[in-house]
Order: sequence, then C-alpha cells, then structure tokens
Amino acid sequence: MEDHNAVLACDSAANLGSFQTRLAIDVFDYYPDSTGDGGYLRLAGWVYCYGINRGDAAVPRLRIGIEGHRSSQKPILLTLNVPRPDVVKVYHDAPEMCGFDYVIPVLTSCKSVLISIMHHHTVVHHQKLSVESLNAVRVPYKSPQDHVINVRFYTDYPVCNFRCPYCVAGHGNNTTERERWDEEMFHKYDKIMDNLGKLDMRINVRPGVAGEFFLSEKLMDGAVRLAAAENVQSINLITNLSRPLTFYERFLSRTGTTKVALVASYHPTEVTDPDEWFEKAVWMNSALDFAVILVGYPPIIDQLEALKFKLNSLGLTVFVQGFIGSYQGRAYPQAYSPAHKEVLRKICYSRHDYEFFVEARKPGLCYAGFNSFYVDMTGVVRPCGVGGWPWPFMGNLLEEPTVALCPAPHPCISSTCLCDTEYINTAIFRQYYRFTGLNQHKFEYKFKHLAATWPAIDEWEIAYC
Ligand code: SF4
Ligand code: SF4
Repeated sequence: MEDHNAVLACDSAANLGSFQTRLAIDVFDYYPDSTGDGGYLRLAGWVYCYGINRGDAAVPRLRIGIEGHRSSQKPILLTLNVPRPDVVKVYHDAPEMCGFDYVIPVLTSCKSVLISIMHHHTVVHHQKLSVESLNAVRVPYKSPQDHVINVRFYTDYPVCNFRCPYCVAGHGNNTTERERWDEEMFHKYDKIMDNLGKLDMRINVRPGVAGEFFLSEKLMDGAVRLAAAENVQSINLITNLSRPLTFYERFLSRTGTTKVALVASYHPTEVTDPDEWFEKAVWMNSALDFAVILVGYPPIIDQLEALKFKLNSLGLTVFVQGFIGSYQGRAYPQAYSPAHKEVLRKICYSRHDYEFFVEARKPGLCYAGFNSFYVDMTGVVRPCGVGGWPWPFMGNLLEEPTVALCPAPHPCISSTCLCDTEYINTAIFRQYYRFTGLNQHKFEYKFKHLAATWPAIDEWEIAYC
C-alpha cells in the first residue's frame, strides 16, 4: 500500500546513568532545490527523558551530521530544551520530552545522516539513517513520476435530490437555482477526466460535486474510465447514499473495488428510512474502503453522539465535518459555543479534524501544489481550491495532460482550511498522521503505539503545533 507520507521512523533509547533518553525520529520529507543537485531534508521527532534524575544529568544536546556532505561543514549541534529538575524526580509515567523539527540542506552525494544525543561532551546515543533508508523518503519526491499526487477535481455539478438545511452547495435553506449542465459542460468534464488519466504521474483523484455524484450517468462513466487508467491509484467519491444498493453494485462492477474509496454523508433531516441507509452502509463497508461523514450543524449536535455510536457499532468509520455557514445570524465554525466544542471534541475522528473543522486554526506550511493539486471546470490547475493562490501557471487540463508541480511546500496564505479534501495537504497533518488505505478519510495518529505507554503523547494531549 502506498504510504502517502513517506515517513521513515527510528526509535531507540540510551542510558545516562539513572536518567535515560530515548530518541524517536521521523524523516518527513526530502524535497529538491531548484538547482537539482541537492535538496532539503526535514527531520523531526522527539527526545524523551525518563527515569530518575539525581540532578546530575546535563541538558541533552542533539547533533546532526551528514556524511558525504560538504567536507568543510561541521555537524549541526542543537541544544534541546528538555526541562532538568533540580530535585530527584521520577518520570516513569510521564516522560519529559522535547520536539525538534529541523530542515537541513543535503547534496545528492549525501551518504547518510547521523543523529546523536550528546551528554556533556560524550555521544550517549546515535542513530544512523543510511542512504538506503533516506532514499525511501527521497525517491518519491525526486520526480512526479515516482510520487503519488492527490488531485481534487471540483466539477460544480449542480444537481441534488436532498435539501439539507446546512448545504454549502446551496440546496438547503436558501436554495440557489443553479444552471443545469449542458452538453458542453459534460464534454469539459470528460476532457479533464481523460487528461487526468493521461498524466505522467501517479494520482489519487477526488472528483467533487455541488450536488450528488451518483445522479449522473455521465459523471459515473467518467469515473469508470478514470479507474481504468494506469496512472490512477485511487478514486475517492462521495455520495449521500440515497440510490438503491443495486445501483451502487452495478457501478462498482464497472470500476472494480481495488481503486475506489467511498465516503457516504449521513443527513439526519433527509434520510427517511435510517435502517435501510445503515444496511447499505454496512454492505458498502464490506465491499470497499468506506467511511461515513456527519455534519456538526448546531441544531443537531446533540443527536450526533448517539448517531456516531450507532454507526460505530455497525463497524463503520465516522468522521465529523464542522458546519460552514451562517446559523441564527452567526458565522460557523467560529461561533461554536464551549458546550458544542466539548461535544465535537468527543466525537471528532482525530485531533486534526477538531483543530481544523471546529477551532478553524490557521494552517501554516502546506504541501498543496507540491504533492497535490486542484483543478476545476475551467481546466486551470492550482495548488488548492481555497484562498486565491498567487501561483504561476501550473497547467490547463482542458488543453493538455501536463501539470507543473511547485518545487517545494509553501506557507498557506489563507486564515483557515475548512475543506475536508484540502486539510490533509498541510504539513501538520503529515507530522502526526498517516493514511491507512485508499480512503482520504481514514488515517491514524503516528504515535499511537507510544501513546499507549505514555498517555502524555496521546493525540489529544500534545500541543498541536
Ligand atoms: S446531500 Fe450534499 S449536496 Fe445534497 S443537499 Fe445535502 S449537503 Fe447539499
Ligand atoms: S492549508 Fe488548505 S487552504 Fe492553505 S494552501 Fe493548504 S490546502 Fe490550500
């Protein structure tokens, strides 16, 4: 299975007498610089200190050396700010830890990276990352052909059979009459889908709509063709699961289930027969990579906990998207009350979902455009669909099947990233999570095994930064 995060981890420990340290490293990324003879390696991880500190343990320092790098360059020495108590302190249950996150320049001649923990002037522990293990990270970023790119194709297809009050596409309370697609729009859709299937890069595609995808035979035909394309690794689709089961079975018999992942949105105000809906969801879950989405619409928040419990009891993965829009004259998600936040925190799929969809945090460094791109019905390719990126021309998929990716990740210029397709592009997502399969809505906290021993690093306990 493709690891979208291309992470290399090492995890080992060393004794400092009665005080011990442990080093856990993730090599997040290697990305090339514009000259082509080198690049930047982003290393991050933690040093944990635990045991009994009798007051004699000096502050550990971290040294990063690069073998095969410019010979004149001295190793980089970082002093870590691990708190050192003045009195004897037992840390068995809650280790003191400090994180590091460092970008180092490396040439293509780099043989290995050596990371050492120094205590006084002595190396007490070191971890060597060989060139082979670095390559596991480096290769995917060397050229687009070797790397799987996430694609969001927003089609703006305007037809839906539901009228959810919170609909962001305008089918709900304030229904906006949208123009139906004519033949020319379907022709454009086909052209873009077909050009995606011809790109010289491996891609995961998420076609989005402003309605219900499975109401259009032509949209489905495009997905069937795309699933057959060699460069396509997966297609993520979303549905309100309102069509009969036989209908979805027929579609999946055309695409196969090895490349298709599905998210079904459960809309309590619209579903007239919940048991039938649950039955279809259980079948879907047995047939392919499947997840359910609920929307944190203020008037139904109190129902969501029980609903999520019911869906989980059927073996279904559930995530909650914050409500985006206006309710009783207040703009959400920023207007969630402390009581709402408490409920949402309990039922959110991950800390990442909570931080982005409920707390509406400012995103920071983002890989949009670097290992993902966005295209809409104009055919113009952009890094992402949120916030007008002032980025130069990346391509036009109505004209030709080529996309020029950005050379490196960049800081986001938007104040929020509320899109459930885009928020996975952020550096902070990659820092803490990895995907578990094809589905963009199924991922896990990378440190969950360590957190089982040390609750202080549970995803809900850490500073999410
Ligand atoms: S199913 Fe989706 S597109 Fe249709 S009304 Fe509900 S939220 Fe809007
Ligand atoms: S954080 Fe979101 S809005 Fe910002 S660049 Fe990335 S994908 Fe776009």
